[in-house]
Amino acid sequence: QIYLYQNRLIPLTQVHISPEDRGYYFGDGAYEVFRVYNGILYETEAHFTRLKKTVDALRIKLPADHTALTRQLEELVRANRLQEGIVYMQITRGTAPRVHAFPAGAEPVLMAYTQPLARPVATMEKGISAVTTEDIRWLRCDLKTLNLLPNVMAKQTAVDHGTGDVVFHRSGTVTECSASNMMIVKNGVVRTHPADNLILHGVTRAVVLRLAQSEGIPTQETPFTVEELLQADEAFITGTTVEVTPVTSVDGKPIGDGRPGAVTRQLQQAFEAAIPTA
Ligand code: PLP
Repeated sequence: QIYLYQNRLIPLTQVHISPEDRGYYFGDGAYEVFRVYNGILYETEAHFTRLKKTVDALRIKLPADHTALTRQLEELVRANRLQEGIVYMQITRGTAPRVHAFPAGAEPVLMAYTQPLARPVATMEKGISAVTTEDIRWLRCDLKTLNLLPNVMAKQTAVDHGTGDVVFHRSGTVTECSASNMMIVKNGVVRTHPADNLILHGVTRAVVLRLAQSEGIPTQETPFTVEELLQADEAFITGTTVEVTPVTSVDGKPIGDGRPGAVTRQLQQAFEAAIPTA
């Protein structure tokens, strides 16, 4: 398994991360997860635009520009002969004795690896169930930072309930899920939380909204409540690893007729048709 570490491709055994890395102490860093289809990196520009927004907000300097980093990730994908899977990439503020304020002279540490991962064919076909949980995260959920403890706790809540994921809500308003965005369909209109500070601006979310428009399906970026989710005709989540996955029940109650809906299916097909082929 080859890793990208700083700007070098090296085997995992040669990657040495210091215990004083601020990612380890504070979760002080940013990350991205890219999809690879047929050996091709998917939506690279959108991921790097989001990464740039996060590192700018955190005041971490990327060691290279989009073009150079894209080239390095492409080399990583080739080195690992990855066809179907993901690239995980993270960058931390660097290594220094533990003080909260930015340490002087610390150099950012960049690391990326690949992981084979099949498309989620079974859950996309069948759908998943979900449970609602209060969204206790901070007010910059639009930044993709390494601090994921609320997401980790929430996902475990889902597992404890035997469900596929949680639906986060702030005082009854649905935001998103633990690692995906949420959309509902009511009377033929696709609705999802606006891209503000309360959700991650999902790359897949943007792809699906674009596809909906080209399919002639009306979309609305307005918040909806847990009650409206329960009354929706259809619900689905979007994300790099889940693509377009139907949500067929929430808190034990069926959404619509409890089966993946027609609009969800149409968007799945449109998504599939837009997957890059070698
Ligand atoms: N929301 C959260 C909290 C996430 O962690 C993710 C992805 O990891 C998403 C939404 C979906 O974003 P994307 O479509 O860019 O994968």
